[in-house]
Parts: sequence; structure tokens; C-alpha cells
Amino acid sequence: MNATDSPAKLLTPVLSTFWDQPDAWTLETYRRHDGYEGLRTALAMDPDDVIAYVKEAGLRGRGGAGFPTGMKWQFIPQGDGKPHYLVVNADESEPGTCKDIPLLFANPHSLIEGMVIACHAIRSSHAFIYLRGEVVPVLRRLHEAVREAYAAGYLGKDALGPGKDLELTVHAGAGAYICGEETALLDSLEGRRGQPRLRPPFPAVAGLYACPTVVNNVESIASVPSLMHKGKDWFRSMGSEKSPGFTLYSLSGHVAGPGQYEAPLGVTLRQLLDMSGGMRKGHRLKFWTPGGSSTPMLTEEHLDVPLDYEGVGAAGSMLGTKALQCFDETTCVVRAVTRWTEFYAHESCGKCTPCREGTYWLVQLLRDIEAGKATLADIDKIDDIADTINGKSFCALGDGAAAPIFSSLKHFREEYEQHVNGRGCPFDPAASTVWA
Ligand code: NAD
Ligand code: SF4
Repeated sequence: MNATDSPAKLLTPVLSTFWDQPDAWTLETYRRHDGYEGLRTALAMDPDDVIAYVKEAGLRGRGGAGFPTGMKWQFIPQGDGKPHYLVVNADESEPGTCKDIPLLFANPHSLIEGMVIACHAIRSSHAFIYLRGEVVPVLRRLHEAVREAYAAGYLGKDALGPGKDLELTVHAGAGAYICGEETALLDSLEGRRGQPRLRPPFPAVAGLYACPTVVNNVESIASVPSLMHKGKDWFRSMGSEKSPGFTLYSLSGHVAGPGQYEAPLGVTLRQLLDMSGGMRKGHRLKFWTPGGSSTPMLTEEHLDVPLDYEGVGAAGSMLGTKALQCFDETTCVVRAVTRWTEFYAHESCGKCTPCREGTYWLVQLLRDIEAGKATLADIDKIDDIADTINGKSFCALGDGAAAPIFSSLKHFREEYEQHVNGRGCPFDPAASTVWA
């Protein structure tokens, strides 16, 4: 893959291959497209061999952190006499992130098939999907797909072979961002208030009901069936050595063609914009996030950064959830960062002081800067508060809240100073459709 490749060559629809069909989500359609063939392959293999195969394929977690999926499965102790659980994290709520929900809506059986394969591999007889509660139509569709899978024998009695039953429970959350953090999610699933637990122990050792638990993202698990069916060499023929395979990129903001684009890891934002119609007419890119608001923002000079874990890391950010939010020159960066910080302050669970107090004070100062009521010393103060939150908070939410502050100051410090010196925002809020 290189910069001159045609758009058709850049796209690799696997998960999204039949999303546009009206009955895409049904078992019948899924089966017409090789559905449950990967499961057939996996069930003929020893569970440990399935884990080794997924490891060799190099699949990395698609929820943001990029942790190797097969390695996570391998952490589950065997012969320990305890139940093992698989929990799928479908509590997608990182700002800008919108891939798992459409995937579940259009192709829920890819997740269910992947879950059955994963349960076979980790020797689990009970799996859970923790879904974001607000997406009621997705919840209904998921319930219907699970019912179809039970009726067809992919779930339930003897699903994993004679005497090996598999139950799947769908649970709807109540709309707290922190419940997407894996240990807060487990607390919430157990019926408690969702707050992060201390790690280690990681869920692989003590997870749901204190038993070994794999927590995987929706897209990670949904990628497993095609990998098992078409093979690890096919999977590795896409992407890069350390970040192989296909993935969903979510393009949003001031772009002509927002939506989901399934392409190999390592594609660039320039290529994705070229194939989707570019920025909105007459405007140019000012800043963008590679993976939602908690990944440091990048600028136009980073348009050719390969969108894989190594490439984005080398550019000073993180690939995260591949939520490519693009903002043009009409956007006030202080306003955008204020809006994100308000989100983090609202969603902070309050368990630790740096995040609970820090996000509150960041919002106060940012609002003052935006309104022209701040001094230049306040700009240093937000930098200092972000530094007190970053790496000193209990969970990744704190680091996520600090990221837009650091990266906006790095790239746009003069815009903050303009607000202070000019006693207010120099931008016309009506010009930017995203933040209206
Ligand atoms: P992490 O790197 O701490 O962990 C990643 C995964 O690997 C976890 O499942 C963890 O249990 C496992 N792991 C790591 N080290 C391990 C070890 N030594 N032994 C066993 N298991 C181990 O990342 P995290 O805090 O779980 O997640 C942060 C990421 O979440 C960020 O990169 C962010 O992009 C993403 N995020 C996603 C959303 C969303 O809506 N999808 C929302 C917020 C944040
Ligand atoms: Fe809660 Fe924020 Fe601390 Fe995480 S960093 S435990 S969300 S207060």
C-alpha cells in the first residue's frame, strides 16, 4: 500500500462488506457470507492452538490500547478449577468514537461468532456483552441475533461440543463513560456502582466475580471469525508487521464524507480524505484526533502519518479508537478543548483527587480563557493542572483529560494567548458547524 494507490485498493471491507443490505443483521445473510465458517474451523482445533493461531496472526485490541488479543487470552490460567468469563466491552463512548455501535447494528453475528470462538479458546461457558444503554435499537437487534444463534445451536446446550454448553448474556449499561473502563465495567456488571479497580490484578487473573476474565472490545472479537476462516497469512497480508489486519476508521467533523471506512492499519488520513471527498468545500484541515479526544491532537503536517500503533506513536499521539475527528480553520481550538474537558469533568467518577478536582478547575480556567477573562498566567496554570492529573490519576480517564490540554498548547499556544490578549475569542462561533 502506498500514497498513489487507488481508493478501491485502499478499502478492505470485511466487517462492513454487506452493511448496506437491508437484512444485513440476520443469521441468513450472515451465513450467505461465510458466517460461522470460522467457528467450524476453530472448534476442530484444540483451544490452545486457537490461542496460538490468533497470536501468530498478530490481531491487536481495537478498543484503543492495541494489546495483543491472543496474548490476553493466553493469560487465562488453565486447570484452576474456577469459571472463566468472556466480557465484551460494547460501552463505546469515547468522544468521536462510533464504530462498534454501527458494527453491532449491521453485523451482530460477527461478534457472536467471535465470542463463541473466544469462549472455546479460553474454556469459558458464560459470556457477556456490556452494551451502552442509550442505543436501544442496537440492544433490540442484538437480542434478536442472540435468539437466532441459540435457535441455530451456536449458543446453548453442547454449543462448544458434547457436554460443553455456552450461555451468552446481553447487559445494557446506564450511560456512564467510566463504565467503559474495563474494571469499572466489571463492577457495574456485578451490580455495583461502576468505579475502576486497582490493577494489578488484571481481569485475566481476577475479573468478573473474582474469576479469570477476558475483556475484549467488540471490533477485536468480531475480527476473529474471518481470521480463522481465511487464515492468518490472509490477515497478515494487510497492515504492517507490528499492526497487521484491517480495521474500521470513523471519519467525522468538517469532512465532506463522514462515515466508517474499513482499510488496512497503516493507511494515512490523507488517503482516507482523498477517497472520501476531503474537507468540506473551501476549507482546510486545522487539527484532528487519531482516536477520539483522549488521544493527543495532530495537525495538517501529520496527514501522512501511517495510522497504525507505531506510526501514530512516533508522531507523538496514540492510535486509540481510530476516531478521526477533523476540524477546519473555522474552529476555535480553545472552544473545542473546553468542550472536551467539560465532558471529562462531567464523567469523572470522583474516586481520585487529581482527576475529580483537576478536571473541575480546568473547565473553570478554560471558560475564562474563552471568555477573555483570563491572564497569561492562567495558560501556564492549565498546563500545570494537566501535569498534576497526567500519570497521577487512578485510571486512564485522567490521562485522557490531560491529552487535549497538552497537545493544544503544543500546537496552538499562540491561539490561547490571542484569547487573553484580545480579551475574548477571535473566532465566529457560527462559522463552525461542529460546535454550534
Ligand atoms: P491498558 O493498556 O492498561 O490495558 C489494555 C488491556 O490489556 C486491558 O484489557 C488490560 O487488562 C490488559 N493488560 C495490560 N497489561 C496486562 C498485564 N500485565 N497482564 C494482563 N493483562 C494486561 O489500557 P486500558 O486502560 O484498559 O484502556 C485505555 C484505552 O482505552 C485508551 O487507549 C483509549 O484509547 C481507550 N478508550 C476507549 C474508549 C472507547 O469508547 N472504545 C473509551 C475510552 C478509552
Ligand atoms: Fe475516577 Fe477520574 Fe480517578 Fe479514573 S481518573 S478513578 S475516572 S476520578
